[in-house]
Amino acid sequence: MPDLIISASAPGAGFSIVAAITTDLVREAQRRHGLSPTATAAVGRLTTGAALLAAGLKGKERLSLQVAGDGPLRGVVSDAWLIDQERVGARGYAKNPQADLPLNERGKFDVAAAVGSGSLQVTKSFEVGQPYAGVVPLYSGEIAEDIAAYLVNSEQIPSIVALGVLADPDGIRAAGGLIAQLLPGADERAVATLEERALSMPPITKLINEGSDAHALLHALAGGAELRSHRTIDVQFSCRCTREKVEAALLGLGADELHKMARERTETEATCEFCKKMYVFTSDEVNELASRLKKA
Ligand code: ZN
Repeated sequence: MPDLIISASAPGAGFSIVAAITTDLVREAQRRHGLSPTATAAVGRLTTGAALLAAGLKGKERLSLQVAGDGPLRGVVSDAWLIDQERVGARGYAKNPQADLPLNERGKFDVAAAVGSGSLQVTKSFEVGQPYAGVVPLYSGEIAEDIAAYLVNSEQIPSIVALGVLADPDGIRAAGGLIAQLLPGADERAVATLEERALSMPPITKLINEGSDAHALLHALAGGAELRSHRTIDVQFSCRCTREKVEAALLGLGADELHKMARERTETEATCEFCKKMYVFTSDEVNELASRLKKA
């Protein structure tokens, strides 16, 4: 199934719902970062969550999810934004991409142990003005439950979140997710119905692996509810790094440090932590950056 996000609302039943297939996106993140299986599950779940939430953004807004934890992954970061009205871009990484743990007693990736205890920060950046950030303690470290706890406790929106990555020794078989949220003013019992259905559904990665597309996922959770205003959005691994942004980071080191770097090595390499793209600066270019600081 191709990567895709579909959103809809069920006004009669009182909820909105977003479904995503992100198999290719997670494969690309795994390949770029050389993620271990456990790290792939953590980064894949968090990046899928960011992509699902980004489907509700407008214009140049951007959403960043930062998991800080004391487990071996040492933290996971993902963000997502609208590239245009038809496309969501998303990216993510783990601070320790090689961290790996045995499967848990249920035979699943032990993301909770790899993440550890800590917090989830959600930051929404706007085209103008200050970003908005909310932080909640991690609920379980399994990511989906942590995002649901954030939505319920910080945004006061009763929500169901399901995120999954299915992998075997041959690679990533399926990845995707679902988020359903209570519509403003709707009866809270709608969430209990959705929760029951979510618990009785097969895992979403099993559905995707067996051929379900994003529409089928949406309907699996929505049940027979009448869905309106379907919106279809492409989703892809993407990065926002540019040479100018890397230059700005180097300028932050100060003129003395830049001159020292230019003396000590013929080339300075800077790698984007989100996409692993490497930017190379010759010593002449590093000296030129330092001279910009002196002129300023
Ligand atoms: Zn990048």
